Amino acid sequence: MVQMEIQPPRKTKIVATVGPSSWDPPILREMIEAGVDVMRLNFSHSDEAQHAKTVRDIREASKAVGREIGILGDLPGPKLRVGAFPGGVVEINFGAEVKLVVDDDGGTADRIPVPWPAMPEVLKDGAIVYLADGSIRLRVTGRDHEGLTAEVEVGGPLSSNKGMNLPGVDAGLAAVSEVDLGWVDFSVRNELDLLAVSFVRRASDLTPVMDRLKELGSDLPVIAKIEKPQAADAIESVVAAANGGIMIARGDLGIEVPLSRVPVLQKHLIRAAGHESKPVITATQMLASMVHAKRPTRAEVTDVATAIYDGTDAVMLSEETAVGDHPVEAVKVMDQIARATEPDLPYWEWLLNRTSQEEMDVSASVTQSAVVAAYRLDLKSIVVPTATGRTAVVVAAHRPKVPVLAVTHTLKAVRRLRLVFGVEPVLYDQVTEIRDLLYTCADVAVAEGAAQSGELIAIVAGLTDQRLGTNLFEVHRVP
Ligand code: PEP
Repeated sequence: MVQMEIQPPRKTKIVATVGPSSWDPPILREMIEAGVDVMRLNFSHSDEAQHAKTVRDIREASKAVGREIGILGDLPGPKLRVGAFPGGVVEINFGAEVKLVVDDDGGTADRIPVPWPAMPEVLKDGAIVYLADGSIRLRVTGRDHEGLTAEVEVGGPLSSNKGMNLPGVDAGLAAVSEVDLGWVDFSVRNELDLLAVSFVRRASDLTPVMDRLKELGSDLPVIAKIEKPQAADAIESVVAAANGGIMIARGDLGIEVPLSRVPVLQKHLIRAAGHESKPVITATQMLASMVHAKRPTRAEVTDVATAIYDGTDAVMLSEETAVGDHPVEAVKVMDQIARATEPDLPYWEWLLNRTSQEEMDVSASVTQSAVVAAYRLDLKSIVVPTATGRTAVVVAAHRPKVPVLAVTHTLKAVRRLRLVFGVEPVLYDQVTEIRDLLYTCADVAVAEGAAQSGELIAIVAGLTDQRLGTNLFEVHRVP
């Protein structure tokens, strides 16, 4: 019989966007087997019926594979899009004059419909308009009774519903629309695990989503997508407000700010999330060539590794898995890059510097002490009994080198913790008596291969009656 090699868990988490290339159940299963931790549903595309089916299929595929994963819903937000091109893709030619008309249909190569009534008023002559992820650039040259005229400065293919970006222009759209709130309701109804808000500019842009969740009695964590320069400038307050962390949405960010600023911003944003012990996803074009090619470029491999060196919790695949030709292979490539990079990460430096070292509260102080002790005392793992997952997030923020096992009785926490670097969630019966809890943690560590009899582990927890957050750290000898 061929012996399968059991790989230790990867620390870096993989988020994969589901779309036409991957929503068939056999592909979902293969992607979970290949190591996807969180599947992302992009609500800018497809309807409710399709997304509801995808949720059911992901849950079934998880069961079949025997690994519960998270599902992240991504709200469209105030993104302008062009209307429909009934003939399919059109070529927008360099140097041509095109019309931008307020309409939602009837697009051709020289008539671009835009379903935005305020467009003629807001876009002044000389305004720059980017289309299709920034690949097409127009300059507004004038206006007539039909709408605007524009010159094509950079041409390319354009199809229905592609995005439109107007750097530096306030389009006057609400941060969160009725459409977005409908998707919030959908996410709660369908028991999603994480919710991302697009085009956040300031912390208060998250409030309508959080208020709606409160009305629905949901504690779904909210992730702020950073793709506007205003959000990057106000990152401390945005990170503080986003209870689920942030996503560096490099696609739109790279249109809204000069492309050359993206690497610096990426480092700055990852640092800001780490400082507040919040998870961070690095997203978009990580393995873009794999939309068609079987192998990534050297530069893409280096980009994924760089995000991991920067301290990201998760790396994300978008088009690669949503519409690409090799969705499963793209996941495998990310898995390999992460596994090759992780032994070389600066864990000790992160422990000393990654989280805020000023004004530490009880949770930050107790969890950091446990991670320091893991080095000093050769502790084999850190076991965290947790109902909500919060303690595991705070431990992980210090980036311990040893495994962090989050022992929880809620499926919800298991699925949410799939996003967090270095955390391996384990579903276990609830234990209320503290002695039993400590021994249960030791049993779980052994069962998961994270310690052996006679070795030392750390057990870190928050005793709720103390109301101090994470207040308990025990060095425990495994019986
Ligand atoms: C991005 O712009 O990088 C991004 C992740 O957003 P979306 O895919 O929703 O456009």
